[in-house]
Amino acid sequence: MSSLRFKAVEEASNRKPVMVDIPKERPVEYYASKVFNRAKMFQYLPLKTYNALINAIDNKEPLPREVADSVARGMKQWAIDNGARHYTHWFQPLTETTAEKHDGFVEHDGKGGMVEEFSGKLLVQQEPDASSFPNGGIRNTFEARGYSAWDISSPAFIIDNTLCIPTIFISYTGESLDYKTPLLRALSAVDKAGTAVARYFDPEVKHVIANLGWEQEYFLVDEALYSARPDLVMTGRTLMGHESAKNQQLEDHYFGSIPKRVEAFMLDLEIEAHKLGIPCKTRHNEVAPNQFELAPIYEETNLANDHNMLLMSIMHEVARRHNFRVLMHEKPFAGINGSGKHNNWSLGTDTGTVLFSPGKTPKENLRFITFVANVMAAVHRHNGLLKASIMSATNCHRLGANEAPPAIISIFAGSQLSEILNKIKNSDKDELIAMAGKEELNLGVAQIPELMIDNTDRNRTSPFAFTGNRFEFRAVGSSANCASAMIALNAAVAEQLADFKCKIDGRLADGEDLHHALLAEIKSLLLYSEPIHFDGNGYSDEWKEEAAKRGLDCETNPALIFDAYLRPSSIEMFRKTGVMTHVELEARNEVKWEMYTKKIQIEARVLGDLAINHIIPVATRYLSILLDNMVKIRELFPGNKGMELSSQDAVTVEKIMHHCSIIKEEVGKMVNARKDANKIENERDKALAYSLNVAPCLDTIRYQIDKLELLVDNEMWPLPKYRELLFIR
Ligand code: ADP
Ligand code: MG
Repeated sequence: MSSLRFKAVEEASNRKPVMVDIPKERPVEYYASKVFNRAKMFQYLPLKTYNALINAIDNKEPLPREVADSVARGMKQWAIDNGARHYTHWFQPLTETTAEKHDGFVEHDGKGGMVEEFSGKLLVQQEPDASSFPNGGIRNTFEARGYSAWDISSPAFIIDNTLCIPTIFISYTGESLDYKTPLLRALSAVDKAGTAVARYFDPEVKHVIANLGWEQEYFLVDEALYSARPDLVMTGRTLMGHESAKNQQLEDHYFGSIPKRVEAFMLDLEIEAHKLGIPCKTRHNEVAPNQFELAPIYEETNLANDHNMLLMSIMHEVARRHNFRVLMHEKPFAGINGSGKHNNWSLGTDTGTVLFSPGKTPKENLRFITFVANVMAAVHRHNGLLKASIMSATNCHRLGANEAPPAIISIFAGSQLSEILNKIKNSDKDELIAMAGKEELNLGVAQIPELMIDNTDRNRTSPFAFTGNRFEFRAVGSSANCASAMIALNAAVAEQLADFKCKIDGRLADGEDLHHALLAEIKSLLLYSEPIHFDGNGYSDEWKEEAAKRGLDCETNPALIFDAYLRPSSIEMFRKTGVMTHVELEARNEVKWEMYTKKIQIEARVLGDLAINHIIPVATRYLSILLDNMVKIRELFPGNKGMELSSQDAVTVEKIMHHCSIIKEEVGKMVNARKDANKIENERDKALAYSLNVAPCLDTIRYQIDKLELLVDNEMWPLPKYRELLFIR
């Protein structure tokens, strides 16, 4: 009867791995073949232009116009030599995807023909007709202009036949309308503040670079099954579906052998990614069935983030070639693990030092502790903001649901680091003076173990964990643009480092010795950060209580979590670091609230339709079969005997009727809640109404539908079930 479902199941189970077109060359040979990297620049640009461009990139200086013209000529030639016919400014608006508008490399030649044309002006700046990108009210329609401007720090690349130029996207009045602009500002702020502090230890340091290594989790579903689930198609997650008898309880998927079809997809994806200069390295099965992970080698944050955005978009394309759909949603299936995107983050210097790595000498270790203590203080100071930076309508399903990110931000330091920090924290003034030493620094801990990297216990319940030479921000959602988290984190750390520098300089001006000044300030940071440091089980109820006592942000409502962006401390921090103005923050929050509302609105509409037009009719049909059957039994066996023989059916009938009536009632309530919420003008209040009054209906309705799934004849059930969706053969 539900032929679509069975056809899809059959199609999916007969599917064979798709052959991958493997290049003849080795990966190191085709790596970055589609990228206008330094080697291509050197090859295609006049030496003078090349030097000027590299100088602008390395020293973060603007590119002179004449140079831009010359770069454009070389870039165009490279692109055409590699099959490009169009070019586009590639940018990251405040949606979850990237945007591009393609133009051909053609101009009239004035003689009735065409010439291939691409000037420095077109390379450097464009005005995409972009009035319908989310802007939170920054651009009213008469000024609906947005500019995209070339980000020279991220190299151009070719996708299909189009040269893509990474750009920022700003309004006519200079406010950022994208993720990249504030990210670049935050990276520059942490560079400046970090360099000033790093110079206490090494005066040669000229730049501090923030590194990012993301780990992308995702699900794959066969495309036939995906198409048979309107909820997946429209919302990216299943809004109903009873748990499969077997899901992840046997723990047999994690690091298990990868199904052949998936392996072909991964290989194809890696080849594409490598050509685009994305340094993919690791791939494996994740915890849940059909869940996988891919991670590259870490890179400078801006580039790493562009690469993540690019990878997400090519994943969708490559998946289609393999008859899969990629689910980037944070919680596509209830009852099994969701997907995140761990952000491995560290600061390093242009002289090659990783600042969160302990060294061999006491001085190097003091530098290590200085940076760690400042990160802890920054994360403590802005813990609510950091939570807001990863919050979304989709990620809120993971938050607080016993998956890596509890709804409270805390830092896991591990026993070895904690021991060292405690030693400093508990030292009195004389002890600190003794540690600082007259000639030699002595931190009192024999040697910070070199192998800390591998020894840090992996506390998976911590949203922000120290992992030996970096911090791992695990609360980021799988579908998110990492920039959101990276903007907040790097800006917060920049503010903290700048404050720290002020204090140290004050002490030095008072004639204090540098080592003692550092130790004394570190001690006060560690004392201040005590509440954020938590090495225990982040999923436990005791922690929720404890965290509230410690004054950490325990808000769980998505709409209210966003408020953290507009707290005076956040506004001030973003202003001081030059990352975002008050106007930008307000505009962005408008967008966040609006996005939240829209997502829940769509889910509510889809579920309402599925419940009333797909599920209830099927349940009713099955109900009448049962009723027919009961009547026939009672005709054949009059009296008590018939009653007895049909009693089980009667129970089922009653249950089905019960679930159906609650579903109808709840859908009615949900529609009314939506109508009421839609009347609210203020975006924050509307999002709040959606979260309090509409979102809970989704769960109630789902619960009832999932119960029906267990009662109704399997042959009649219209949508592919979890057991069919979740096990790729
Ligand atoms: P896990 O065991 O958590 O899965 P991996 O060893 O796979 O971790 O590494 C995860 C990511 O962390 C990779 O992208 C890796 O390049 C990155 N990474 C390693 N060291 C650093 C560092 N110092 N700074 C930033 N990222 C790093
Ligand atoms: Mg990790």
